[in-house]
Amino acid sequence: YTSIKLLNNLGFSDIRSKEQLLPGDKVYRSIHNKGLMAAVIGEDKAKAGFNILGAHVDSPRFDLKPNPIYEEAEMVFLKTHYYGGVKKYQWTAVPLALHGFAVRADGTSVKIAIGDDENDPVFMLTDLLIHLSKDQMTKTAAEVVTGEELNLLIGGRPVPHKDVSERFKVGFLMILKEKYGLSERDIVSAEIQVVPSDKARDLGFDRSFIAAYGHDDRVCAYPALRAVAAQEKSKRTVMLMLTDKEEVGSQGNTGAQSQEYETFMAEVYAKTEGGYDELGFLMALENSAMLSTDVVNGYDPNFASTMDIRNNSMMGHGVCLQKYTGSRGKSGASDANAEFLAKVVHLLDEYKIPWQTGELGKVDQGGGGTISQYAANRGIEVLDCGVPVLNMHAPQEIVHKLDLYATHQAYRCFIENM
Ligand code: MN
Ligand code: MN
Repeated sequence: YTSIKLLNNLGFSDIRSKEQLLPGDKVYRSIHNKGLMAAVIGEDKAKAGFNILGAHVDSPRFDLKPNPIYEEAEMVFLKTHYYGGVKKYQWTAVPLALHGFAVRADGTSVKIAIGDDENDPVFMLTDLLIHLSKDQMTKTAAEVVTGEELNLLIGGRPVPHKDVSERFKVGFLMILKEKYGLSERDIVSAEIQVVPSDKARDLGFDRSFIAAYGHDDRVCAYPALRAVAAQEKSKRTVMLMLTDKEEVGSQGNTGAQSQEYETFMAEVYAKTEGGYDELGFLMALENSAMLSTDVVNGYDPNFASTMDIRNNSMMGHGVCLQKYTGSRGKSGASDANAEFLAKVVHLLDEYKIPWQTGELGKVDQGGGGTISQYAANRGIEVLDCGVPVLNMHAPQEIVHKLDLYATHQAYRCFIENM
């Protein structure tokens, strides 16, 4: 919603409202309110390809189960299901907020956003007190708290009538009805997410860093959005791709594997070329260049044994180019072609934008992937390129301001000059 509001203010309009597209036209398409495509039409033919920035806008979090509400020991809880790769123990005993939307019985939908304003209440996943943690402290970190123990404390006031069963739960249901017009049944279809309530803060005496929830991948998505939104007229058509579900594999009609992102590209093609022809469109994809704008792991000297210092990205050394992703023997890797990587490197050098290379930790320690592979499968030249992060996937993640600045410059440079 924030992105669409920003784009509307800058003169972008829904692509479906346009019959044909001319150089300088600015269009977007919402992907089920979870993803977004946007484009600024360039002077070149669409067949010449697009310059694309692609980020994901989902972050690790806790979702509510379909039947989340229950009371126990005169307290009301919501059952959660974690989303994405998290160290579960990090999410207990920290203030949390609820965000999402629900659909009422009459079909109207209602937005839920509570826990971020300083006058709002917050919510919490409880942890065991240290005084009784003799057994818990001997468990491995993966088992310290388990998925089913992560129940969100949301209330503790009953309705006054003594004869009502589940008085505490009913107390909460009355608030739900009053404040949002929702019944317990409406929660079955709701999409409500539990996220840290903390705001982004400067970190360090010299304010070098920014600590915030969801840097992965909003710290790349936002500069990518800004870079595309700032385009007035360019040679090639530039595009922004903001996808959902990256943290769980990019599936579904809102994930990067969804046909809908490409449908937008086809629509741009058809409306600029004056018609759709499949071969022409496939050639446009082949001629396209993309940065998969996602975060990488910054070097953390406190965990030096997990990273190769000669190949890891360093905090404050600039935008990170990651030639390949993947795990173990590059399994699941998206590997940028040498010619394309060299072109990006030369471009950044020419514009004196600080860049560095990165790799996701030591070879046998783990690994990961981004949305780059799905674009690469379609013939697009693609390189992973983003901001180094400490504490990735923790409730608060850390980036260096210099890296963020260099990344924004790199994204602009790429879409304007590639
Ligand atoms: Mn990411
Ligand atoms: Mn991630």
